[in-house]
Amino acid sequence: MSEDCLFCRIGAGEIPATVVYETDSVLAFRDIAPQAPVHVVVIPRAHHANVIALSETDPGLASEVLAAAGAVAKAEGLTGDGFRVVFNTGPHAGQTVFHVHAHVLGGEPLGLIVSM
Ligand code: 5GP
Ligand code: ZN
Repeated sequence: MSEDCLFCRIGAGEIPATVVYETDSVLAFRDIAPQAPVHVVVIPRAHHANVIALSETDPGLASEVLAAAGAVAKAEGLTGDGFRVVFNTGPHAGQTVFHVHAHVLGGEPLGLIVSM
């Protein structure tokens, strides 16, 4: 756990968030600046900088993050009309928090994956 990392601190309960799903190893909470009617961020509580670091270091935990994203989509009623799961990774993707997280987005048609 890094005191400098926002999502480590949210994962440890030190910074409040609107939690929608949690296990011992993962946490899902509403994004502070939602970009869709449903916008939930799923993190492992353990620190990994991005999805590559997570999947290479701890593939079992990567699988738990994906399972949590699916559980959130079901709980939020997104599975019928569909939803998107996004791991922004690095500067070209606009990653701003360097603790791996999956965005779960849905609740309306989401448009193109890449804005033109
Ligand atoms: P990224 O841009 O790294 O893919 O995603 C980071 C996300 O974290 C952004 O969508 C941003 O709105 C969200 N975020 C940043 N700070 C906070 C916070 O303090 N609380 C919550 N709930 N979300 C945050
Ligand atoms: Zn962290």
